[in-house]
Amino acid sequence: MTLGPLILVSGPSGSGKSTLIRRVLEQPPFPLRLAVSATTRPARPGEVDGQQYHFWSLERFQRELAAGAFLEYAQVHQQHYYGTPRSEVDPFLQQGQGVILDIDVQGAAQVRKIYPQHLSIFVALSRWEMYEQRLRQRATETPDSIARRLQTARLELERQGEYDHVVLNDNLEQAVIQFREILTKYHSDRC
Ligand code: 5GP
Repeated sequence: MTLGPLILVSGPSGSGKSTLIRRVLEQPPFPLRLAVSATTRPARPGEVDGQQYHFWSLERFQRELAAGAFLEYAQVHQQHYYGTPRSEVDPFLQQGQGVILDIDVQGAAQVRKIYPQHLSIFVALSRWEMYEQRLRQRATETPDSIARRLQTARLELERQGEYDHVVLNDNLEQAVIQFREILTKYHSDRC
């Protein structure tokens, strides 16, 4: 049986990629689920363990890593660890279902080697100032966290050429349409 489609989505903090993914998943063009990553970052207010992330201690994360439970992992913003548990991906792909990964550029590079057949999308904004504006509006980040995220954003933007498509998310509604069109075309080309 052919594996289901694997979709990698990266983009700097503030690009609105999580909201965009959520909107696309409200009406996906084919059966598609978002993999729930594990992270050592503390939960933000309103985040629930097992929904946005599996919030694991560093000890648990290291134990799972040693046991080979991760498809990939990375230290993001030079701070916390994030990883994709294999159990969130492999069983679904094997059933022919689509899986979408919200993943940083380092993790995406690792997964590309493991699954050469994938679709990758980079979400960006057209102007640099917009990242900082959006991060400030979020009001969940400390000034230190905003600074770290902007530093990572510069490095991530340099690697957008590694992706099959770049979706500009200045306007969410337009970005949702463009993202869906890319998925639809990819799916019909595979069939
Ligand atoms: P946040 O802390 O804002 O939720 O996420 C920070 C960054 O970590 C985002 O760029 C997100 O794409 C990335 N990320 C989330 N889950 C994973 C994962 O499982 N693996 C990797 N490598 N990056 C992830």
